[in-house]
Amino acid sequence: MANNLTIVMYHYVRPLRGSRYPDLKALELERFRGQLGFIQRHYHVVSMEEVIAATRGDASLPERALLMTFDDGYRDHYQHVLPLLVDRGLQGSFFPPVCAVRDNRMLDVNKIHFILASGANPRQLIDEIYATLDAKRTEYSLPGNAEYFAAYSRESRYDDPQVTFVKRVLQKGLPKSLREPLIDRLFRRFVTEDERGFAAELYMNSVELRELRSAGMFIGSHGDRHLWLNTLSVEEQRHEIDASLDFLSELGVLAHDWVMCYPYGGYDDSLLGILRDRHCALGLTVEVGVADLTQHDALLLPRLDTNDLPIDGKALPNKWTCNATTI
Ligand SMILES: [Zn+2]
Repeated sequence: MANNLTIVMYHYVRPLRGSRYPDLKALELERFRGQLGFIQRHYHVVSMEEVIAATRGDASLPERALLMTFDDGYRDHYQHVLPLLVDRGLQGSFFPPVCAVRDNRMLDVNKIHFILASGANPRQLIDEIYATLDAKRTEYSLPGNAEYFAAYSRESRYDDPQVTFVKRVLQKGLPKSLREPLIDRLFRRFVTEDERGFAAELYMNSVELRELRSAGMFIGSHGDRHLWLNTLSVEEQRHEIDASLDFLSELGVLAHDWVMCYPYGGYDDSLLGILRDRHCALGLTVEVGVADLTQHDALLLPRLDTNDLPIDGKALPNKWTCNATTI
């Protein structure tokens, strides 16, 4: 019985060349088009409803089933992704964080992306970070700058050590009370003073999300403030989940058969308990792999990144595509 499922994760999808932020780590729209070609040749794109039915044993999936997921509620998804999916009769699943969409608040993670794409030299950003560390070292008992760099810089799948350092130290490496003002300062200095206006352009609004739904797309939870949910108290975890469920219900999404997509892939046992209490049907992580619905916990499904699949419609199947048949 075929119950393997390839879930692909997308973030920014936009025409980069000639745009205001050509260095943004985004998937170039043409490449997305190419990847859709590859996916349609080698996979069967399934809907979230079909996947939920399969995890309950009510149905089995076609061979090489693939689910497309789009995180963070970017307007890219409305503007560029939706028309392509509608054209091809494919369903995508979208996971907007509430505060970004409803309150026009920039997520810290997105501020960091645009700080890095602003054209500022990474060295300049590192100097700013060091200046903050120097000013607060005694108060917060912080280690030395070189020690910080050693701890947080590394070659990642996509970035060089300097960029990884800036990203990681701003995402996780400093106490919240230091990190947030520092990110704000860098964002105002290198990107814009008008956070709300920038957010209103960057993220979809409720009207666009409703249009997505009317077009047959699936919308799920990505929390309220896009936090590492495994770092929160149980009360805060409940708040994150319930705020996002209230928002989904405003959009007309059913309270059962809802799907959680963990921001940064962060979850823990208490969060999973809350999700089970609230009848969450599926959870999407950022662990890299092809899901086997007979093996994986439905709340802990792995995903591939868009970079794991070819972007040329004529490309030969790669190891993930081959895995999807043999698993
Ligand atoms: Zn996210």
